[in-house]
Parts: sequence; structure tokens; C-alpha cells
Amino acid sequence: MKHTKVKDLLNSSKVNYEVNAKGWVRTFRNNQFIALNDGSTINNIQCVVDFENTPETTLKRITTGAAVSVIGQLVESQGAGQKFEIQVSHLEILGDSDAEKFPMQPKKHSLEFLRENAHLRVRTNAFGAIMRVRSVLAHAVHTYFQEKGFVYVNTPIITGADAEGAGEMFQVTALPVDNLPITEEGAIDYKKDFFGKHTNLTVSGQLEAETYAMALGQVYTFGPTFRAENSNTSRHLAEFWMIEPEVAFNDLDDNMDLAEDFIQYVIKYTLDKCPDDLKFLESRLLEEEKSKPQAERSEMTLLEKLNFVLKNNFKRVSYTEAIDILRDSTPNKKKKFQYLINEWGADLQSEHERYLVEKHFKCPVILFDYPANIKAFYMRLNEDGKTVRAMDILFPGIGEIVGGSQREERYDVLIEKMKVLGIDEEELWWYLDTRRFGSAVHSGFGLGFERLVLFVTGMTNIRDVIPFPRTPQNAEF
Ligand code: ATP
Ligand code: MN
Repeated sequence: MKHTKVKDLLNSSKVNYEVNAKGWVRTFRNNQFIALNDGSTINNIQCVVDFENTPETTLKRITTGAAVSVIGQLVESQGAGQKFEIQVSHLEILGDSDAEKFPMQPKKHSLEFLRENAHLRVRTNAFGAIMRVRSVLAHAVHTYFQEKGFVYVNTPIITGADAEGAGEMFQVTALPVDNLPITEEGAIDYKKDFFGKHTNLTVSGQLEAETYAMALGQVYTFGPTFRAENSNTSRHLAEFWMIEPEVAFNDLDDNMDLAEDFIQYVIKYTLDKCPDDLKFLESRLLEEEKSKPQAERSEMTLLEKLNFVLKNNFKRVSYTEAIDILRDSTPNKKKKFQYLINEWGADLQSEHERYLVEKHFKCPVILFDYPANIKAFYMRLNEDGKTVRAMDILFPGIGEIVGGSQREERYDVLIEKMKVLGIDEEELWWYLDTRRFGSAVHSGFGLGFERLVLFVTGMTNIRDVIPFPRTPQNAEF
């Protein structure tokens, strides 16, 4: 007999027929009621064991974490809390789980403890829900772009570019680190390395994606990205997944429209596909917030927050306006910010971004037209000569979720900028070819997938929304 997924059993349109379910025991109550979960849904199916006719030795093996297969009638449940249950006629223990040793006990565990057991935490309700939502969000990303005719481009993970302009890089080498080949000048001889040159893990697929946008029109990447930034925060990973659309003939306004429409689409998609998981995550968040002081609790529940983002336009504010707001803000005047905002040109820290989003505007904010000298070399210089067509999207509880720009399409201006910053023209010869041959206005952005998952799941630490997080001093599993 073929087994049926718990999700399908719980949605069954008929009753009183024989079914087979397989899964892992979440709890076993009164020597009679198994709560069985197989990961297809957050909900368990109750399996009622005929304990009088089941050997004591078998009953003892029905422990939390054990894998079991049950065969029995699917019937309407007498008990409260579930529509259907299985009256078990045959039970088989597929894999035992020592109740004394299994770390995932049916009780509340700290998130820190769960991180140390990342291979088992997915057996909890919360992590099952998070990982299903993550998967659906990934599908939503592809669905959105594919429906709009974007081409999915796989940019390289090992890159030959030393300056992708986005952050500290991890080196990739096949050289023996304890016996490096040295040039006559005494430097490491990368000519002898695997690729015959110095290589890194990518920090962004943007530059390669731009070359593809200049032929295919609308493209997007969705792949792993690496940053060797030693910032141990709740929003940074050393390995994360980034979504980077790049569109020919889009200016900065089109770019903002695309980002906003995209984010609203994927949230709506997930609200439609994951109602049970999101409802669970909403109650989890409410529970967690009870331990916080009133002032720090969010004013909206998770679902209210998600719906708010769908129903309201993101507030578009220039960097210059933002500086004025921050300069006159109470935390700035009372010197509550760690970095005080005194003048135009200051780089915004996450405390400032969060003030704008959470205290001042109380909605997602798109900041645009940043000072040229705090942004990357490839951003389009404005007519004022001092700002660039950059945009960052800031979200409540998260801070920056998107960073993007209209790209500098003018060869001369781009070269000039690279010279000033000391970026090697020869190394980026292929990138500069896009400006030499058929250059055109184009724009794109990068969205950190985990920051999106953080927002949608209401989790607060980025380590909890990726299966096996990579952070400074941590690469277990
Ligand atoms: P931040 O200021 O938060 O470090 P950034 O300015 O370095 O971000 P970008 O280089 O613009 O970010 O990257 C685009 C997007 O990738 C960001 O908006 C963010 O969503 C995501 N991102 C950047 N760095 C990380 C990281 N270390 N871990 C997870 N996501 C990241
Ligand atoms: Mn960064």
C-alpha cells in the first residue's frame, strides 16, 4: 500500500477508508494518541493506537522523533482540535529514537540551542514552517520573473574579478597554503594557481548580469553570494542567497517600481500558499514578544504587517530629505544615535535607517539619490555632479532589504570614476565592453533572499531562516 502525505489526509474529501501514513512522532499521549508529522504541513495527524492489542514492547518504541508507518481507517475525529484521525490497525516502527537522547523534546527550546542542532531543528514546528515558507518564496521569485519574461542567468560563483564593488571577498585557491609559489618580486605567484590568476567567491553577480541584460533585455540571477565581512549581526551571513534583476532601458524610477511590485508579489504569493505556516509563525511571534517590554513590541501582528506592505506604497524619499529628517530628529538632538548626523554626505547606519522606517515614516521606505562617494563605482552620476542614482529599500525590523541603482552607461564617465577609485580597467575590460558596444540606460538591484525570509516569517535573526548558516567562527554541518 502506498502511503499518503499527512497534508492530503487532512484535506481528504472522503472518510472511512484505509490509509497508510508515514512520518515522525511528535508526541505520544496516554499510550494511545500519536501526533504524527511528515513535513508536508505544520499540522499533525492524530493516530489512535489500539493499546490493548498492541504489545507493550511496541508501545514503548513510540517515542518523540521515531519514524513510524501506520495503516488504519481514516475517520472523523471525536476529539476537539482535528477533523480526521487514523484508527490504527497496523503499526510499524521504521526507525527508533531514544527518548533520553533525542535533543528535540516536545517543549520550548531556545533559538540558540536549536542553532547548535541545525540538522534537527527542522523537526520543530517553527523551523518546518520557516523552511516551507522559504521554499515557497523561492518559487514566487522565479514565478514573478518568468511570468514577466525575464531570463534566469546563472552568474559564476568563482569570479576572476577582484572588485565587484560589494564587499570583502573570500579567496579561492588550489595553491598549497603552507608552501606558496613566490614570484621574483616576492609576491604570491597566482599564475601557478588553478585558474592561472587570483580568484574569489562572488559577492554579487551584477557585473556579469549587466552584460546579459545588454543582450537579453530583462534578466535575473538567484544564487549564492559570499561576503567575508566580519560583522556578527543578526542581518549578515557569510553565505547568503541574492536575487539580482537587471533590466535594459529601465531608469531609476522603473527600477523602484520593479522592486516594489516584485516584493509585493512574492509576499502575496506566500500569503496565499502558506496560510497555516504563517498563522503559526504569527502566534510564535506574539508569544516571543510577550517577553519584551511593551514599548519594544510591534504594533502589528505578522499578518497585519504583511498585508500592510501589500496595501501601501513604499515611501520614496531622497537621501537629502532623509538627512534633514534625521538631523532634526529627537534621537539626534538628544545624542541618542551612536553616529550623530551633522552634515550632508554622512553614510547612514542601521540605527538611522530603522529610525526612518520604524519611527518616522512607519512604512517601507525607498531612499534614493545618495552621495556619489559613499556608493559603488558603477552608479549613474546625476546632473548635480555629487549624487548618484542609487536606491536602498528599508524595511521595518530589517533595515536594508534591497540595494540597487541605475548604472552609469556613459563610457567616459565610468572610466573617470574607476580611475579616481583606482579600479583596474584592464581587469574589467569585459565589463567596459558593455559601454563600448551598444551601451544603453539600464538598472537593477540586489535583494538578500534571507532578509526577505526574515520579514515574511517574522523571525529576528538571519541565522534562523537559512538551513545551515555560515557566520564568523561558524561553519558546522
Ligand atoms: P548592508 O549595509 O546591510 O551590509 P550592503 O549595502 O552591503 O548591505 P548590497 O551590497 O547592496 O548590501 O547587497 C544587496 C542586498 O544583499 C542587501 O540589500 C541585503 O538585502 C543583502 N545582503 C548584503 N549583505 C548581506 C549579508 N552579509 N548577509 C545577508 N544579506 C546580505
Ligand atoms: Mn554589507
